[in-house]
This record gives sequence, C-alpha cells and structure tokens, in this order.
Amino acid sequence: MRIDIATLFPEMCEAVLSESIIGRARKSGAVEIYCHNIRDYAFDKHRRTDDTPYGGGMGMVMKAEPIFLCWQAVCESLQEKPWSIYLSPQGHVLNQAKTMELSHRENLFLLCGHYEGVDQRVLDTIIDEEISVGDYVLTGGELPALVLADSIVRTCPGVLPNAACFEEESHFHGLLEHPQYTKPDTWQGQSVPEVLLSGHHLKISQWRTQESLRVTQEKRPDLYQAWLDKN
Ligand code: SAM
Repeated sequence: MRIDIATLFPEMCEAVLSESIIGRARKSGAVEIYCHNIRDYAFDKHRRTDDTPYGGGMGMVMKAEPIFLCWQAVCESLQEKPWSIYLSPQGHVLNQAKTMELSHRENLFLLCGHYEGVDQRVLDTIIDEEISVGDYVLTGGELPALVLADSIVRTCPGVLPNAACFEEESHFHGLLEHPQYTKPDTWQGQSVPEVLLSGHHLKISQWRTQESLRVTQEKRPDLYQAWLDKN
C-alpha cells in the first residue's frame, strides 16, 4: 500500500510516521508513505497557499491551485488516480469498518486542511470522500490524517506479526477487548485473575469472551446492543 499525504506541515507528519511500528513498516517496505508540502506547488510570486474568504469573514482559506498541482504530481508518479480523502469535520466519522475497507486500496491520497478549510472547487474536483475523526473541530487535518494512516497501516500485511494482532482487538468484531495483564502476578495487593495463570487454553479463551462482553456492556452499551442485534 502507498499513502500520499498533502499538508502545509510535512515535518509534523514525518515526526510521527518515522517512529515505532509505522516507522519500521516504512523502513521494511511493508508500506510506502510520502508527505508532500503543498507550498512546493505554490508558484505565484509570494508562494501563497491561502487567501481571504470570498464573502468576508474570519480566517484564511487554502487555495485550490497548489492542492490540485500537488494531487496531479502524485497521480503522475502513480500513473493512476489514488482514492482521495479530505480529512474534514464534515466527513463520516472514522470507525474500524472504514479502516478495513480503506486498507484494501492500493493508493490513498490524504488532504489535510488548515485555517478555515479548503476552496470547495478543488474538493469537488479531486476528492472521493471526506472522513472525520470525531464531532469536534481541530486546527488542521494533520492529526486526523495521522490517525487514519496509523489505523490503516497497522492492518497491512507485514506490519504487525499476524492478523490476530488486530482481529482480536477492540472493534474488529464489534466488541471491546477483554482486560490485559502482565508481570508481576501481584501488584499493590491486586492479583491477576487466577484463570490466566492456569495454562488452560479453553478456560482462558472462555474467560476472555465473557470479559469482552462484560466490558462492552459496561463501557459502550450502544456497541453491545448493536452486537446483540447482529448475533
Ligand atoms: N471551517 C471548517 C468547518 O467549520 O467545517 C473547519 C476547518 S478546521 C479549523 C481546519 C482543518 O482541520 C479542516 O480543513 C480539516 O482538514 C481539519 N479538521 C478539523 N477537524 C477535523 C475533524 N474532526 N476530522 C477531520 N479533520 C478535521
């Protein structure tokens, strides 16, 4: 999979995408991620990437042309049009099902807005879908793009040791994951549930299923009800 991120702040994205599991996945070639500076595609005298909004009002709006030229350069390097996403508080809110759907695409182009947003005309021209990370407004699309890229990349082959690493986690099957424990077996007077020390695989698996149902019912009754309705 290849992900191209268009942003005014590529260093902000690179800082996150060079670390830990995603950084290793890039180094090993399991995924390709490129961060493009939209300013590199602003060719007017002052290399402007934003301007005042028509109709008046607060703030600045990102100009259409540098974004379009950046997207065109990515299309040329891919020799095809990538599935193009604008990170936006007006998009559908991201969930695991959307992550899995997007992880099957070969190429993704992620556009990060800033300031008051982006000239609608370039969105109408290049964007296939808008995705939000929640019903609140952030200063820019960089953190949402990083959230989206992370959630997708960790499900790509060769990134985590195997598919069970994400298939057995919260949200994959509609439930939350059971509680996790590690050494020591007693910490500040609190013991690890006995069954986890038993070595009895069937009992451990049954305990994990029961706990998964319990925590989902307690923490997210909405998810629990949806899971009951489906099963
Ligand atoms: N004026 C816009 C509106 O009211 O819909 C909000 C612009 S916001 C301050 C600046 C940029 O941050 C947006 O263009 C978008 O790329 C990004 N952004 C803000 N909140 C977001 C969210 N919840 N999900 C995804 N992107 C978001």
